[in-house]
Amino acid sequence: MEELNYQDVIERIKARFPQGTVRQREDNGRAYIPNQIYTDRVESATGSRWDREIRDVEVNIPHRFVKVIARVTIGPHHRDGIGFSEIHADGSGKVKQLSTAVDQAANEAVRDALDTWQIGWRDLAPYNSKDWGGNPALGHLLHGEPPGEIDFTKQPAAVIERKCVFANCGRKLTRDEWELLGHIPNLSRERMTYCFEHIPNHYKRKIPSEIQEAFLNPNK
Ligand SMILES: [Zn+2]
Repeated sequence: MEELNYQDVIERIKARFPQGTVRQREDNGRAYIPNQIYTDRVESATGSRWDREIRDVEVNIPHRFVKVIARVTIGPHHRDGIGFSEIHADGSGKVKQLSTAVDQAANEAVRDALDTWQIGWRDLAPYNSKDWGGNPALGHLLHGEPPGEIDFTKQPAAVIERKCVFANCGRKLTRDEWELLGHIPNLSRERMTYCFEHIPNHYKRKIPSEIQEAFLNPNK
């Protein structure tokens, strides 16, 4: 069997996908690439010589989330990813479809690990041009396409297209709230999107105090 050349494999993993690979979610319009596409890419790029391992599963019923940590190994290197999903409950508070929630979190964790090898970045960058995809430091992903025109730093308190995932809240986050989530270690704000009021306390405690101060007193 041909020896696995790590650099070659990673180049193949990062390569652009065919036109039409990127899909948009019906609920929030966000661009994504289905998990099966990633698995297929890694399979073919490595000749099936890769491994995924679930390292940790946390089912948190009180806060209604599942957290999974997964490790992907390619050649001599491994990367860990973290995935969250929401646990749904019926009207009487009884948990529904827990195994689905665990599967979702596991898929997210694997995708998160693969993401560190920049899988799909070239394809997703044009859809995220207002966020990371338009950052000049990643301009090579877009092959010279100009970054987005909108400068969000000029409207720091603007409401953005992210909604609080806390049960029955759904309030759109302000840009400041979105930034604040970015300061919480090990919180994926893409998935654990909370308005300030609904950030679970164990996460709130991890926000550096000076950052929280600045958030609460923006005009100081
Ligand atoms: Zn909320």
